[in-house]
Amino acid sequence: MIHCQLLIDGQSVPASDDATYEIPSPASGEIVGQAAAATSNDVNRAVAGAKKAFAAWSTLTAWDREKIIRKATAHARTKSTEIGRLMALEQGKPLHQAVGEVSSSCDMIDYYAAEGVRIEGTINPTEKSGYHSWVTYQPVGVCVAISPWNYPVALLAWKLGPALAAGCTMVVKPSPVTPLCATAFGEALIEGGIPAGVIQVVTGPGPELGDMLVKHPNVKKVAMTGSTAVGKRILESCAPQLKKVSLELGGHCPAIVCADADLDLAARVIAYKGFRNGGQSCSSVNRVYAHRSVHDGLVSKLRGHAQSMTLGDGITDPAVDNGPMATAEARARVEEHVADALAHGATLICGGARPEGDAFARGNYYLPTILTGATPEMRMMREETFGPVVPVAAFDDPDDAVNLANSTPWGLVSYLFTRDLATTFRASEALESGTICVNHGAVNTPYGPYEGWGDSGYGLELSRQAIFEYLKTKHIKLAL
Ligand code: NAD
Repeated sequence: MIHCQLLIDGQSVPASDDATYEIPSPASGEIVGQAAAATSNDVNRAVAGAKKAFAAWSTLTAWDREKIIRKATAHARTKSTEIGRLMALEQGKPLHQAVGEVSSSCDMIDYYAAEGVRIEGTINPTEKSGYHSWVTYQPVGVCVAISPWNYPVALLAWKLGPALAAGCTMVVKPSPVTPLCATAFGEALIEGGIPAGVIQVVTGPGPELGDMLVKHPNVKKVAMTGSTAVGKRILESCAPQLKKVSLELGGHCPAIVCADADLDLAARVIAYKGFRNGGQSCSSVNRVYAHRSVHDGLVSKLRGHAQSMTLGDGITDPAVDNGPMATAEARARVEEHVADALAHGATLICGGARPEGDAFARGNYYLPTILTGATPEMRMMREETFGPVVPVAAFDDPDDAVNLANSTPWGLVSYLFTRDLATTFRASEALESGTICVNHGAVNTPYGPYEGWGDSGYGLELSRQAIFEYLKTKHIKLAL
C-alpha cells in the first residue's frame, strides 16, 4: 500500500485532520494506495506558502530560474520509472507509456525554462519628445493547476513549465484518481532543487478542494484541464475576482478520410488516436467520416488494428498495448454509448464488450470497438465517449464531411487524410478547431499552440504563447 501526503513548503505532511482516501487499482479493484484529503486549513497553508515563495522566486533572473529548473528536471528524469509505476498502478496505462510520459514531461518543462529568458518587452517611439515608454511583463503570482487523470503528469507539466519559467509559484491539485504520480513528480522536482513553496501539491476529493483553491483570494491564475462542464463552473467561480484563467477541455475530434487518402496510414493513425490510453484522451478520434469509395477498405484495416491490440495489466505485463480503463464509471459510460448507438441502428464491427477470461474479470477492461452506420442521433457522435470506441459514417461530398465535422460545440482537434493539396488547404481552413492534423496524429508538440475552440477551451497551452497566460503586461511611461 502506497501512502501519499500533501507537499507543503517542501515538506510531506498529512492533512490537518489526518483524513485520507483510498486509491483502487483499475486493473484489479484492490486498494493500492492512500492519499491525504486536504482540508480548508491545508489549502490556506498551501496558498500562503506559495505566496511567500513567490517573493523570492519571481525576483530571480530567468537565467537563474532556468538553471534551477533544469537541475530539477534532470533529477526527476532519474525517477521516471518510479513515478511511471505509480501512474500505471493508479491510472491503468502500461508501464512503458507511463514512464515515457514522465520523461517527456521533464522535456516540456525544460522547453519553457529556456523560453523564460526570451520574455522580451518593447521600447516604443513616443508621440512627444521627453516621453519614454516601455512595455514589460511580470509574473501573475500564485497559480493553481487543476489536472485530470488521463495524462496526470504531462498535463501538470504543461502548466508547471510556463508558470515556473515566468516566475510564478504553483499549487497543484491533481485529479483524485491519480494523486500518487502527480505528488511524486512534484516531490522529485523539489528534491532536485525547486525551492520550498514554489510547488505545493494538495490532494483530495475534486470538486470541494478545487473550488476552495479556485476561489482563494490569493490565487491569481487558474489553469485547468478537464471536462467542459467543470471548466465552465471554474470560469464562473473565477469571474467575481476576474482571475486569469486557462481551460483545456473536452474534445469530440472528427477524422475525415478522403477518397485519395493513404488508407494504411489513415487506419494506423485513427486506431492509435482512437484506442491508445483506452481512448481516454481529449484528442482521441471520436468520429470518422470516410468517403464512401474507401469506407469498407478503411473499416477492414481499422478492424485489423483493433483486433491485434493486446490488453492486460501493464505493470505485470509491460508489453501490452492497453491497460484497463481508469475508472469503473469511465467504462460504464462507454457501455452506455455503445448500447445507445446499437439501439439507433449502428453495426458492430468488433469489440463492443468486456474481454473474457479470468485475467480481465476484476479490472475495468473494454475491447477496442468499431461501429459503422454512425448517425448524429447517436450519443457517441455528439458527446465525448472517452473510451476505446471509433464510430464510422460514410460521406459522398467532402463539403458535407466538413459540415458534419463542424457540427458539434467542440473544436479541439480535427484530423484530415488526403493526398491532395487543394483539399488540404480548403478543409484545413474550413474546419473549426484549434488544431488540424493532416495525415498524422502527432498532436501536441512544445512549439505548437493548443487552443480549444468553442466548448473545448478558453485560453491556450503549449508554445511560446502559453507563457503569456502566466504574465501580466505593464506599460511604463515617463515624462522626463
Ligand atoms: P473533470 O472535469 O471531472 O476533472 C478535472 C479536474 O477538475 C479534476 O482535478 C477534478 O478534481 C477537478 N474539479 C472537479 N470539480 C471541480 C470544481 N468545481 N472546481 C475546481 N476543480 C474541480 O475531468 P476528468 O474526468 O478528470 O478528465 C477527463 C476530461 O478532461 C475529458 O473531458 C477530457 O476531454 C478532458 N481533457 C482535456 C484535455 C485538453 O487538453 N483539452 C486534455 C486531457 C483531458
